[in-house]
Amino acid sequence: MLGKLTTYLRMAGHDVEYVHDLEVEDDAEVRQLVEGSGRTLVTRDTDLAEKVDDSVLLESRDVEDQVREVWENGVDPRLTEPSRCSRCNGALKRDDGSGPDDVDESWRCIGCSQVYWRGSHWRDVSERVEDVVDG
Ligand SMILES: [Zn+2]
Repeated sequence: MLGKLTTYLRMAGHDVEYVHDLEVEDDAEVRQLVEGSGRTLVTRDTDLAEKVDDSVLLESRDVEDQVREVWENGVDPRLTEPSRCSRCNGALKRDDGSGPDDVDESWRCIGCSQVYWRGSHWRDVSERVEDVVDG
């Protein structure tokens, strides 16, 4: 449900686990996971948000509005330098020369080896997020 927002926040360098990927179904399990890790829960589920101490309840379905909602809750969504894998949440390390020939800077995920660079998707997301923050 929040897959797109997860991608955006990882691109902004945040350490984000997506509950959907973790085979956790039950609210009590989600609560344990969040509170045991010191993370903040971001959810659209009102019941779940009420059960977890540190949670942000999102109202919107639209990713740009969701970005605005997390921004208003103190999470900076702006993109600076790639540092998190948007697929697996692994840390990225600098690996110049792995991207396309016309790209100087690239990064590689230490978890799944995915290569990243500041391409058109990066610029597109960055512009959308900047619009939200400036607006
Ligand atoms: Zn990865």
